[in-house]
Amino acid sequence: MKAHDAMYIGGRWRPAATAETIAVVNPADERTVARVPAGTAEDIDAAVRAARAAFPGWAATPPAGRAARIAALRDALAARADAFTETVVAELGAPPDLARTVHAGLPVVIAASFAELAAAHSFEEAVGNSTVLLEPVGVVGAITPWNYPLHQIVAKAAAALAAGCAVVVKPSEETPLTAQLFAEAVHEADLPAGTVNVVTGLGPVAGAALAAHDGVDLVSFTGSTAVGRRIGAVAGAAVKRVTLELGGKSASVILPGADLRTAVRASVAQVMFNSGQTCSAWSRLLIHRDQYEEAVALAAEEAAGHTPGERIGPLVSERQLRRVRGHIDKAVAEGARLVTGGPAAPRGLGHYVSPTVFADVTPEMAVAQEEIFGPVVALLRYEDEEDALRIANGTVYGLGGAVWAADDATAAAFARRMDAGQIDVNGGRFNPLAPFGGHKRSGFGRELGAHGLAEYLQTKSLQF
Ligand code: NAD
Repeated sequence: MKAHDAMYIGGRWRPAATAETIAVVNPADERTVARVPAGTAEDIDAAVRAARAAFPGWAATPPAGRAARIAALRDALAARADAFTETVVAELGAPPDLARTVHAGLPVVIAASFAELAAAHSFEEAVGNSTVLLEPVGVVGAITPWNYPLHQIVAKAAAALAAGCAVVVKPSEETPLTAQLFAEAVHEADLPAGTVNVVTGLGPVAGAALAAHDGVDLVSFTGSTAVGRRIGAVAGAAVKRVTLELGGKSASVILPGADLRTAVRASVAQVMFNSGQTCSAWSRLLIHRDQYEEAVALAAEEAAGHTPGERIGPLVSERQLRRVRGHIDKAVAEGARLVTGGPAAPRGLGHYVSPTVFADVTPEMAVAQEEIFGPVVALLRYEDEEDALRIANGTVYGLGGAVWAADDATAAAFARRMDAGQIDVNGGRFNPLAPFGGHKRSGFGRELGAHGLAEYLQTKSLQF
Protein backbone atom coordinates (compact mmCIF):
# COMPACT_ATOMS: atom_id res chain seq x y z
CA MET A 1 0.00 0.00 0.00
CA LYS A 2 1.27 3.45 -0.91
CA ALA A 3 2.32 5.62 2.02
CA HIS A 4 4.12 8.96 2.43
CA ASP A 5 7.28 8.86 4.50
CA ALA A 6 6.68 12.49 5.44
CA MET A 7 4.29 14.83 7.21
CA TYR A 8 1.89 17.20 5.46
CA ILE A 9 2.88 20.56 6.95
CA GLY A 10 2.52 24.05 5.49
CA GLY A 11 1.13 22.79 2.20
CA ARG A 12 3.88 20.30 1.38
CA TRP A 13 5.23 16.88 2.40
CA ARG A 14 8.10 17.53 4.82
CA PRO A 15 10.52 14.91 6.12
CA ALA A 16 9.72 13.84 9.67
CA ALA A 17 11.97 14.93 12.51
CA THR A 18 13.11 11.37 13.24
CA ALA A 19 13.40 8.13 11.26
CA GLU A 20 11.03 6.26 13.60
CA THR A 21 8.07 4.61 11.88
CA ILE A 22 4.78 2.93 12.80
CA ALA A 23 3.62 -0.28 11.11
CA VAL A 24 0.13 -0.25 9.62
CA VAL A 25 -1.39 -3.72 9.94
CA ASN A 26 -4.36 -5.14 8.04
CA PRO A 27 -6.50 -6.66 10.82
CA ALA A 28 -8.12 -9.11 8.40
CA ASP A 29 -4.86 -10.95 7.60
CA GLU A 30 -2.47 -9.49 10.18
CA ARG A 31 0.02 -8.40 7.52
CA THR A 32 1.90 -5.11 7.62
CA VAL A 33 0.67 -3.10 4.63
CA ALA A 34 2.81 0.04 5.05
CA ARG A 35 4.83 2.11 7.48
CA VAL A 36 4.30 5.78 8.28
CA PRO A 37 6.52 8.21 10.17
CA ALA A 38 6.10 8.42 13.94
CA GLY A 39 5.74 12.12 14.61
CA THR A 40 7.35 13.76 17.62
CA ALA A 41 6.89 17.03 19.49
CA GLU A 42 9.17 18.61 16.88
CA ASP A 43 6.86 17.66 13.99
CA ILE A 44 3.85 18.87 15.95
CA ASP A 45 5.60 22.16 16.66
CA ALA A 46 6.33 22.67 12.95
CA ALA A 47 2.69 21.92 12.09
CA VAL A 48 1.31 24.27 14.74
CA ARG A 49 3.62 27.04 13.53
CA ALA A 50 2.43 26.51 9.96
CA ALA A 51 -1.19 26.65 11.15
CA ARG A 52 -0.54 29.83 13.16
CA ALA A 53 1.02 31.46 10.14
CA ALA A 54 -1.94 30.50 7.94
CA PHE A 55 -4.66 31.42 10.44
CA PRO A 56 -4.97 35.22 9.97
CA GLY A 57 -5.32 34.95 6.19
CA TRP A 58 -7.85 32.14 6.36
CA ALA A 59 -9.85 33.85 9.12
CA ALA A 60 -10.00 36.99 6.97
CA THR A 61 -11.20 35.07 3.90
CA PRO A 62 -14.90 35.91 3.40
CA PRO A 63 -17.25 33.00 4.22
CA ALA A 64 -18.09 32.54 0.52
CA GLY A 65 -14.39 32.10 -0.25
CA ARG A 66 -14.01 29.54 2.54
CA ALA A 67 -17.13 27.76 1.29
CA ALA A 68 -15.62 27.49 -2.19
CA ARG A 69 -12.45 25.83 -0.87
CA ILE A 70 -14.43 23.42 1.33
CA ALA A 71 -16.54 22.53 -1.71
CA ALA A 72 -13.28 21.85 -3.58
CA LEU A 73 -12.22 19.61 -0.70
CA ARG A 74 -15.53 17.76 -0.98
CA ASP A 75 -14.83 17.22 -4.70
CA ALA A 76 -11.29 16.02 -4.00
CA LEU A 77 -12.61 13.55 -1.40
CA ALA A 78 -15.27 12.30 -3.82
CA ALA A 79 -12.69 11.89 -6.59
CA ARG A 80 -10.72 9.58 -4.30
CA ALA A 81 -13.62 7.24 -3.47
CA ASP A 82 -11.74 4.20 -4.83
CA ALA A 83 -8.54 5.02 -2.99
CA PHE A 84 -10.34 5.69 0.31
CA THR A 85 -12.27 2.44 -0.07
CA GLU A 86 -9.10 0.41 -0.66
CA THR A 87 -7.28 2.14 2.16
CA VAL A 88 -10.04 1.62 4.74
CA VAL A 89 -10.31 -2.02 3.68
CA ALA A 90 -6.55 -2.39 4.17
CA GLU A 91 -6.06 -0.63 7.49
CA LEU A 92 -9.42 -1.08 9.24
CA GLY A 93 -10.42 -4.39 7.65
CA ALA A 94 -13.87 -3.02 6.73
CA PRO A 95 -15.87 -5.03 4.18
CA PRO A 96 -15.58 -3.28 0.77
CA ASP A 97 -19.28 -2.32 0.58
CA LEU A 98 -19.19 -0.66 3.96
CA ALA A 99 -15.87 1.00 3.15
CA ARG A 100 -17.30 2.49 -0.02
CA THR A 101 -20.74 3.61 1.11
CA VAL A 102 -19.99 4.74 4.65
CA HIS A 103 -16.26 5.21 5.23
CA ALA A 104 -15.56 6.86 1.86
CA GLY A 105 -19.08 8.16 1.13
CA LEU A 106 -20.28 9.78 4.36
CA PRO A 107 -17.39 12.28 4.66
CA VAL A 108 -18.29 13.68 1.22
CA VAL A 109 -21.78 14.46 2.54
CA ILE A 110 -20.33 16.02 5.69
CA ALA A 111 -17.84 18.17 3.74
CA ALA A 112 -20.69 19.32 1.47
CA SER A 113 -22.77 20.27 4.49
CA PHE A 114 -19.98 22.47 5.86
CA ALA A 115 -19.40 24.11 2.48
CA GLU A 116 -23.08 25.09 2.53
CA LEU A 117 -23.01 26.15 6.16
CA ALA A 118 -19.92 28.30 5.70
CA ALA A 119 -21.77 30.23 3.00
CA ALA A 120 -25.08 30.47 4.83
CA HIS A 121 -24.05 30.90 8.47
CA SER A 122 -24.48 34.26 10.10
CA PHE A 123 -21.17 35.24 11.68
CA GLU A 124 -22.64 38.44 13.10
CA GLU A 125 -25.82 39.11 15.03
CA ALA A 126 -27.52 42.14 16.55
CA VAL A 127 -28.46 42.02 20.24
CA GLY A 128 -30.09 45.28 21.33
CA ASN A 129 -27.45 48.01 21.03
CA SER A 130 -24.69 45.44 20.48
CA THR A 131 -23.24 43.68 17.50
CA VAL A 132 -22.09 40.19 18.37
CA LEU A 133 -19.27 38.87 16.20
CA LEU A 134 -18.73 35.14 15.88
CA GLU A 135 -15.01 34.78 15.20
CA PRO A 136 -12.85 31.71 14.63
CA VAL A 137 -11.18 30.41 17.78
CA GLY A 138 -7.75 30.11 16.14
CA VAL A 139 -5.62 27.01 15.69
CA VAL A 140 -7.37 23.70 16.30
CA GLY A 141 -5.64 20.48 17.37
CA ALA A 142 -7.81 17.61 16.08
CA ILE A 143 -7.07 14.21 17.62
CA THR A 144 -9.09 11.42 16.03
CA PRO A 145 -9.80 7.69 16.50
CA TRP A 146 -9.70 4.85 13.99
CA ASN A 147 -13.28 3.61 13.96
CA TYR A 148 -14.54 5.87 11.13
CA PRO A 149 -11.14 7.20 10.14
CA LEU A 150 -12.07 9.65 7.41
CA HIS A 151 -15.38 10.76 8.91
CA GLN A 152 -13.73 11.65 12.22
CA ILE A 153 -11.15 13.84 10.48
CA VAL A 154 -13.62 15.53 8.12
CA ALA A 155 -16.21 16.20 10.86
CA LYS A 156 -13.57 18.24 12.69
CA ALA A 157 -11.53 19.73 9.86
CA ALA A 158 -14.42 20.84 7.64
CA ALA A 159 -16.22 22.46 10.60
CA ALA A 160 -13.05 24.23 11.72
CA LEU A 161 -12.37 25.47 8.18
CA ALA A 162 -15.95 26.72 7.83
CA ALA A 163 -15.46 28.72 11.01
CA GLY A 164 -12.19 30.21 9.73
CA CYS A 165 -9.82 28.16 11.90
CA ALA A 166 -6.55 26.49 10.86
CA VAL A 167 -6.09 22.83 11.84
CA VAL A 168 -3.45 20.31 12.83
CA VAL A 169 -4.77 16.74 12.56
CA LYS A 170 -3.21 13.93 14.58
CA PRO A 171 -5.01 10.81 13.30
CA SER A 172 -5.09 7.44 15.02
CA GLU A 173 -1.91 5.41 14.62
CA GLU A 174 -4.12 2.47 13.58
CA THR A 175 -5.41 4.26 10.46
CA PRO A 176 -2.84 6.85 9.31
CA LEU A 177 -3.04 5.98 5.60
CA THR A 178 -6.57 7.35 5.35
CA ALA A 179 -5.27 10.56 6.94
CA GLN A 180 -2.44 10.83 4.41
CA LEU A 181 -4.94 10.42 1.60
CA PHE A 182 -7.06 13.13 3.21
CA ALA A 183 -3.97 15.40 3.11
CA GLU A 184 -3.68 14.72 -0.62
CA ALA A 185 -7.29 15.83 -1.04
CA VAL A 186 -6.57 18.99 0.98
CA HIS A 187 -3.65 19.72 -1.31
CA GLU A 188 -5.72 19.30 -4.43
CA ALA A 189 -8.46 21.51 -3.00
CA ASP A 190 -5.94 24.34 -3.00
CA LEU A 191 -6.50 25.40 0.56
CA PRO A 192 -3.94 28.04 1.56
CA ALA A 193 -0.71 26.36 2.76
CA GLY A 194 -0.86 25.61 6.48
CA THR A 195 -4.63 25.82 6.95
CA VAL A 196 -4.72 22.01 7.28
CA ASN A 197 -1.72 19.97 8.44
CA VAL A 198 -1.48 16.24 9.14
CA VAL A 199 1.06 14.71 11.52
CA THR A 200 1.00 10.93 12.00
CA GLY A 201 2.26 9.52 15.27
CA LEU A 202 1.52 7.78 18.52
CA GLY A 203 -1.04 9.18 20.95
CA PRO A 204 1.16 9.59 24.00
CA VAL A 205 3.88 11.28 21.88
CA ALA A 206 2.39 13.29 18.98
CA GLY A 207 -1.14 13.49 20.42
CA ALA A 208 0.06 14.61 23.83
CA ALA A 209 2.38 17.21 22.24
CA LEU A 210 -0.51 18.63 20.21
CA ALA A 211 -2.89 18.81 23.17
CA ALA A 212 -0.25 20.57 25.28
CA HIS A 213 1.07 22.99 22.62
CA ASP A 214 0.76 26.68 23.54
CA GLY A 215 -0.02 27.56 19.93
CA VAL A 216 -3.21 25.48 19.96
CA ASP A 217 -6.35 27.37 20.98
CA LEU A 218 -8.83 24.49 20.93
CA VAL A 219 -8.37 20.74 21.21
CA SER A 220 -11.08 18.70 19.53
CA PHE A 221 -10.74 15.11 20.69
CA THR A 222 -12.67 11.97 19.81
CA GLY A 223 -11.65 8.74 21.47
CA SER A 224 -11.70 6.85 24.71
CA THR A 225 -12.91 8.32 27.98
CA ALA A 226 -9.55 7.52 29.62
CA VAL A 227 -7.55 9.60 27.13
CA GLY A 228 -10.26 12.27 26.99
CA ARG A 229 -10.01 12.78 30.73
CA ARG A 230 -6.26 13.37 30.40
CA ILE A 231 -6.68 15.79 27.49
CA GLY A 232 -9.38 17.67 29.39
CA ALA A 233 -7.01 18.07 32.33
CA VAL A 234 -4.17 19.37 30.13
CA ALA A 235 -6.52 21.79 28.35
CA GLY A 236 -8.03 22.91 31.65
CA ALA A 237 -4.62 23.68 33.12
CA ALA A 238 -3.72 25.74 30.04
CA VAL A 239 -7.18 27.42 29.91
CA LYS A 240 -7.76 26.40 26.31
CA ARG A 241 -10.99 25.29 24.75
CA VAL A 242 -11.66 21.56 24.45
CA THR A 243 -14.37 19.35 23.02
CA LEU A 244 -14.51 15.70 24.03
CA GLU A 245 -16.42 13.07 22.07
CA LEU A 246 -15.98 9.97 24.18
CA GLY A 247 -17.41 6.51 24.78
CA GLY A 248 -20.97 5.31 25.10
CA LYS A 249 -23.27 2.56 26.31
CA SER A 250 -26.36 3.55 24.40
CA ALA A 251 -29.74 1.94 24.95
CA SER A 252 -32.34 0.93 22.40
CA VAL A 253 -35.66 0.84 24.26
CA ILE A 254 -38.51 -1.18 22.78
CA LEU A 255 -41.80 -0.06 24.30
CA PRO A 256 -44.86 -2.35 24.26
CA GLY A 257 -46.80 -1.73 21.05
CA ALA A 258 -43.70 -1.36 18.87
CA ASP A 259 -43.16 -3.72 15.96
CA LEU A 260 -40.96 -6.11 17.93
CA ARG A 261 -39.41 -7.86 14.97
CA THR A 262 -38.39 -4.64 13.20
CA ALA A 263 -37.13 -3.04 16.40
CA VAL A 264 -35.03 -5.98 17.57
CA ARG A 265 -33.56 -6.73 14.18
CA ALA A 266 -32.71 -3.10 13.42
CA SER A 267 -31.19 -2.61 16.87
CA VAL A 268 -28.98 -5.69 16.66
CA ALA A 269 -27.92 -4.76 13.12
CA GLN A 270 -27.00 -1.27 14.35
CA VAL A 271 -24.69 -2.83 16.97
CA MET A 272 -23.06 -5.18 14.47
CA PHE A 273 -22.43 -2.34 12.01
CA ASN A 274 -18.67 -1.68 11.62
CA SER A 275 -18.11 -4.76 13.85
CA GLY A 276 -19.55 -2.90 16.85
CA GLN A 277 -16.87 -0.23 16.64
CA THR A 278 -19.31 2.67 16.78
CA CYS A 279 -19.29 4.99 19.78
CA SER A 280 -23.07 5.35 19.61
CA ALA A 281 -23.75 1.59 19.17
CA TRP A 282 -27.02 0.58 20.88
CA SER A 283 -25.17 -2.02 22.89
CA ARG A 284 -28.03 -2.39 25.40
CA LEU A 285 -31.41 -3.56 24.19
CA LEU A 286 -34.26 -2.99 26.68
CA ILE A 287 -37.33 -5.20 26.28
CA HIS A 288 -40.57 -5.53 28.25
CA ARG A 289 -40.59 -8.77 30.26
CA ASP A 290 -43.70 -10.09 28.41
CA GLN A 291 -41.87 -9.93 25.08
CA TYR A 292 -38.44 -10.83 26.35
CA GLU A 293 -37.99 -14.43 25.16
CA GLU A 294 -39.44 -13.64 21.75
CA ALA A 295 -36.96 -10.77 21.46
CA VAL A 296 -34.05 -13.01 22.51
CA ALA A 297 -34.85 -15.41 19.66
CA LEU A 298 -35.13 -12.55 17.14
CA ALA A 299 -31.85 -11.03 18.32
CA ALA A 300 -30.03 -14.34 17.99
CA GLU A 301 -31.40 -14.83 14.49
CA GLU A 302 -30.35 -11.34 13.39
CA ALA A 303 -26.87 -11.58 14.96
CA ALA A 304 -26.16 -14.93 13.33
CA GLY A 305 -26.70 -13.36 9.90
CA HIS A 306 -23.73 -10.98 10.37
CA THR A 307 -21.09 -13.46 9.26
CA PRO A 308 -17.52 -12.48 10.18
CA GLY A 309 -15.45 -12.00 7.05
CA GLU A 310 -18.54 -11.34 4.96
CA ARG A 311 -20.98 -8.90 6.52
CA ILE A 312 -18.72 -7.78 9.34
CA GLY A 313 -14.99 -7.21 9.34
CA PRO A 314 -12.46 -7.89 12.08
CA LEU A 315 -11.74 -5.63 15.02
CA VAL A 316 -9.07 -3.05 14.27
CA SER A 317 -6.23 -4.59 16.28
CA GLU A 318 -5.13 -7.48 18.43
CA ARG A 319 -5.38 -5.20 21.44
CA GLN A 320 -9.06 -4.52 20.72
CA LEU A 321 -9.62 -8.23 20.12
CA ARG A 322 -8.19 -9.06 23.54
CA ARG A 323 -10.26 -6.33 25.19
CA VAL A 324 -13.50 -7.45 23.58
CA ARG A 325 -12.85 -11.12 24.41
CA GLY A 326 -12.14 -10.05 27.98
CA HIS A 327 -15.56 -8.33 28.14
CA ILE A 328 -17.26 -11.47 26.79
CA ASP A 329 -15.50 -13.72 29.32
CA LYS A 330 -16.46 -11.35 32.12
CA ALA A 331 -20.12 -11.35 31.05
CA VAL A 332 -20.19 -15.15 31.13
CA ALA A 333 -18.47 -15.15 34.53
CA GLU A 334 -20.99 -12.70 36.00
CA GLY A 335 -23.90 -14.90 34.95
CA ALA A 336 -25.22 -13.44 31.71
CA ARG A 337 -26.72 -16.05 29.35
CA LEU A 338 -24.68 -16.45 26.15
CA VAL A 339 -27.30 -16.87 23.42
CA THR A 340 -25.07 -16.79 20.36
CA GLY A 341 -21.46 -15.96 19.55
CA GLY A 342 -18.89 -15.97 22.34
CA PRO A 343 -15.14 -15.68 22.76
CA ALA A 344 -14.07 -18.41 20.30
CA ALA A 345 -12.35 -17.16 17.12
CA PRO A 346 -14.69 -17.58 14.12
CA ARG A 347 -11.81 -17.64 11.61
CA GLY A 348 -8.17 -18.71 11.70
CA LEU A 349 -6.53 -15.50 10.67
CA GLY A 350 -7.55 -11.94 11.50
CA HIS A 351 -8.93 -10.22 14.59
CA TYR A 352 -12.50 -11.46 14.19
CA VAL A 353 -15.20 -11.80 16.86
CA SER A 354 -18.50 -13.60 16.31
CA PRO A 355 -21.65 -11.50 16.68
CA THR A 356 -22.53 -12.10 20.31
CA VAL A 357 -25.84 -11.80 22.15
CA PHE A 358 -26.19 -11.92 25.93
CA ALA A 359 -29.57 -12.40 27.62
CA ASP A 360 -30.59 -12.28 31.30
CA VAL A 361 -28.39 -9.22 31.70
CA THR A 362 -29.11 -7.14 34.79
CA PRO A 363 -28.35 -3.39 34.93
CA GLU A 364 -25.47 -3.65 37.40
CA MET A 365 -23.49 -6.20 35.35
CA ALA A 366 -20.32 -4.96 33.66
CA VAL A 367 -21.74 -6.04 30.28
CA ALA A 368 -24.54 -3.51 30.88
CA GLN A 369 -22.27 -0.73 32.14
CA GLU A 370 -18.95 -0.80 30.28
CA GLU A 371 -18.35 0.15 26.68
CA ILE A 372 -17.24 -2.96 24.75
CA PHE A 373 -16.64 -1.57 21.23
CA GLY A 374 -17.25 -4.91 19.57
CA PRO A 375 -20.16 -6.89 18.07
CA VAL A 376 -21.74 -7.62 21.44
CA VAL A 377 -25.28 -6.76 22.52
CA ALA A 378 -26.78 -7.10 26.01
CA LEU A 379 -30.53 -7.79 26.34
CA LEU A 380 -32.13 -6.39 29.49
CA ARG A 381 -35.66 -6.96 30.81
CA TYR A 382 -37.80 -4.14 32.19
CA GLU A 383 -41.06 -4.16 34.18
CA ASP A 384 -42.68 -0.91 33.09
CA GLU A 385 -41.79 2.41 31.43
CA GLU A 386 -40.34 3.96 34.58
CA ASP A 387 -38.15 0.92 35.04
CA ALA A 388 -37.03 1.15 31.39
CA LEU A 389 -36.14 4.81 31.83
CA ARG A 390 -34.20 4.13 35.02
CA ILE A 391 -32.20 1.39 33.27
CA ALA A 392 -31.66 3.44 30.09
CA ASN A 393 -30.30 6.40 32.10
CA GLY A 394 -28.43 4.22 34.59
CA THR A 395 -24.90 4.35 33.19
CA VAL A 396 -22.16 6.98 33.35
CA TYR A 397 -22.54 7.49 29.59
CA GLY A 398 -25.12 9.42 27.57
CA LEU A 399 -24.18 9.45 23.89
CA GLY A 400 -26.88 7.92 21.70
CA GLY A 401 -30.00 5.82 21.95
CA ALA A 402 -33.19 4.67 20.30
CA VAL A 403 -36.84 4.35 21.24
CA TRP A 404 -39.38 2.17 19.45
CA ALA A 405 -43.13 2.51 20.08
CA ALA A 406 -46.47 2.15 18.32
CA ASP A 407 -46.26 5.77 17.19
CA ASP A 408 -43.68 8.56 17.01
CA ALA A 409 -45.36 10.70 19.67
CA THR A 410 -45.11 7.94 22.29
CA ALA A 411 -41.50 7.19 21.37
CA ALA A 412 -40.54 10.89 21.32
CA ALA A 413 -42.12 11.46 24.76
CA PHE A 414 -39.87 8.73 26.15
CA ALA A 415 -36.82 10.00 24.21
CA ARG A 416 -37.22 13.46 25.79
CA ARG A 417 -36.66 11.87 29.19
CA MET A 418 -33.52 10.00 28.12
CA ASP A 419 -30.22 11.46 29.25
CA ALA A 420 -28.31 11.21 25.96
CA GLY A 421 -27.21 13.46 23.10
CA GLN A 422 -28.81 11.82 20.07
CA ILE A 423 -31.80 9.49 20.02
CA ASP A 424 -33.44 7.78 17.05
CA VAL A 425 -37.24 7.71 17.14
CA ASN A 426 -38.74 4.59 15.56
CA GLY A 427 -35.65 3.97 13.49
CA GLY A 428 -34.96 7.59 12.58
CA ARG A 429 -32.94 8.60 9.56
CA PHE A 430 -29.38 9.93 9.55
CA ASN A 431 -29.28 13.72 9.40
CA PRO A 432 -25.85 15.22 8.65
CA LEU A 433 -26.98 18.56 10.11
CA ALA A 434 -28.16 17.18 13.47
CA PRO A 435 -25.74 17.86 16.33
CA PHE A 436 -23.94 14.78 17.62
CA GLY A 437 -22.25 14.46 21.01
CA GLY A 438 -22.54 13.31 24.55
CA HIS A 439 -24.16 13.92 27.90
CA LYS A 440 -22.46 12.87 31.15
CA ARG A 441 -19.14 11.00 30.74
CA SER A 442 -19.67 10.70 26.98
CA GLY A 443 -18.12 14.15 26.85
CA PHE A 444 -19.14 17.63 25.79
CA GLY A 445 -19.24 19.68 22.65
CA ARG A 446 -21.10 18.81 19.46
CA GLU A 447 -20.12 17.82 15.96
CA LEU A 448 -21.94 18.35 12.64
CA GLY A 449 -24.30 21.05 11.47
CA ALA A 450 -24.51 24.58 12.82
CA HIS A 451 -23.95 23.37 16.40
CA GLY A 452 -20.75 21.65 15.28
CA LEU A 453 -19.61 24.81 13.53
CA ALA A 454 -20.31 26.89 16.65
CA GLU A 455 -17.73 24.88 18.62
CA TYR A 456 -15.01 26.55 16.53
CA LEU A 457 -16.29 30.09 17.06
CA GLN A 458 -15.81 32.57 19.88
CA THR A 459 -18.00 35.59 20.48
CA LYS A 460 -17.07 39.23 20.72
CA SER A 461 -19.61 41.96 21.39
CA LEU A 462 -19.40 45.57 20.32
CA GLN A 463 -21.65 48.01 22.18
CA PHE A 464 -22.99 51.07 20.36
P1 NAD B 1 -8.01 6.36 21.99
O1 NAD B 1 -8.47 7.26 23.07
O2 NAD B 1 -7.06 5.29 22.32
O3 NAD B 1 -7.31 7.19 20.82
C1 NAD B 1 -7.95 8.29 20.19
C2 NAD B 1 -6.87 9.25 19.69
O4 NAD B 1 -6.18 9.79 20.80
C3 NAD B 1 -5.82 8.59 18.80
O5 NAD B 1 -5.44 9.48 17.79
C4 NAD B 1 -4.67 8.38 19.75
O6 NAD B 1 -3.42 8.34 19.12
C5 NAD B 1 -4.78 9.60 20.64
N1 NAD B 1 -4.17 9.48 21.96
C6 NAD B 1 -3.95 8.36 22.69
N2 NAD B 1 -3.33 8.66 23.85
C7 NAD B 1 -3.15 10.00 23.85
C8 NAD B 1 -2.58 10.92 24.78
N3 NAD B 1 -2.05 10.52 25.94
N4 NAD B 1 -2.59 12.23 24.47
C9 NAD B 1 -3.12 12.67 23.31
N5 NAD B 1 -3.66 11.85 22.39
C10 NAD B 1 -3.68 10.53 22.66
O7 NAD B 1 -9.33 5.81 21.33
P2 NAD B 1 -9.47 4.80 20.10
O8 NAD B 1 -9.14 3.44 20.63
O9 NAD B 1 -8.76 5.29 18.92
O10 NAD B 1 -11.02 4.90 19.78
C11 NAD B 1 -11.98 4.17 20.47
C12 NAD B 1 -12.70 5.04 21.48
O11 NAD B 1 -13.19 6.22 20.85
C13 NAD B 1 -13.92 4.37 22.06
O12 NAD B 1 -13.95 4.53 23.45
C14 NAD B 1 -15.09 5.12 21.43
O13 NAD B 1 -16.26 5.14 22.16
C15 NAD B 1 -14.54 6.47 21.25
N6 NAD B 1 -15.24 7.15 20.16
C16 NAD B 1 -16.09 8.17 20.47
C17 NAD B 1 -16.79 8.82 19.46
C18 NAD B 1 -17.73 9.95 19.75
O14 NAD B 1 -18.05 10.67 18.84
N7 NAD B 1 -18.17 10.15 20.95
C19 NAD B 1 -16.60 8.43 18.14
C20 NAD B 1 -15.73 7.39 17.87
C21 NAD B 1 -15.05 6.77 18.89
